[in-house]
Amino acid sequence: MFGWLRRSPPAATLDDDAWDRACRELRLLDALPEADLARLRSRVARFLAEKQFHATHGQEIDVRLRLIVATQCCLPALHLPEDTLSGWRDVILYPGAFRARRHEHDEHGVAHEFDEDLIGEADEQSGPIILSVADIEADLAEPFSGVNVILHEIAHKIDARDGACDGVPAIPDLEARRQWIRVMQAAFDGLRAEVEAADAADAEPETAIDPYAAEAPEEFFAVATEAYFSDPEALRAFDSAVFEEFRKFYAGAR
Ligand SMILES: [Zn+2]
Repeated sequence: MFGWLRRSPPAATLDDDAWDRACRELRLLDALPEADLARLRSRVARFLAEKQFHATHGQEIDVRLRLIVATQCCLPALHLPEDTLSGWRDVILYPGAFRARRHEHDEHGVAHEFDEDLIGEADEQSGPIILSVADIEADLAEPFSGVNVILHEIAHKIDARDGACDGVPAIPDLEARRQWIRVMQAAFDGLRAEVEAADAADAEPETAIDPYAAEAPEEFFAVATEAYFSDPEALRAFDSAVFEEFRKFYAGAR
């Protein structure tokens, strides 16, 4: 029954009780079939063996927090190739939102520097993912809200795996990739028009998914990933063609 434990030595560090507790606490796993749970456990063991967790600003890390983070990182990649989450090593945990210095050039070529409060960030290459523990805990309390900082940041890592964080993840089949781009572009343009119309009317956009998705194609992918795993009906209501593409991609059928 636990044959996979022997094939994957790091799994020995994954204590049965701690895993059971994490599974109970993570309501996102409620609907997973037994076989998927076993596969997830093996992926989580590998993740814990390969990644280095760092805590900063007084944050403590314990077995529970490591598992909560690792499991939600591995959940979207469950049916994707085993090396989907490789190519980077560090997970940095802050107690709450953190400040990041930004440098941007505006349309006149003028450089601007400013600080931004973030709840999560993912480096597009081999750098870390950075997460706010307060927001991780808030997501646990409202697991089906469509908002999940871990899913968002790990989606950026999944997107960037093919070398570009651009809203188009690794889809080897050319026709499937074209189809993905067609569907996402149409949905992105529609969402952007909705958000711009709301802005022009000085109103809050009432979009079916978080309007932050209209910021850029890569944010669209990350926000839609959050919705796909934590509020799939909202994603289906937003756009059934987008939902279907996500279903195929995350089922490993792309
Ligand atoms: Zn993002």
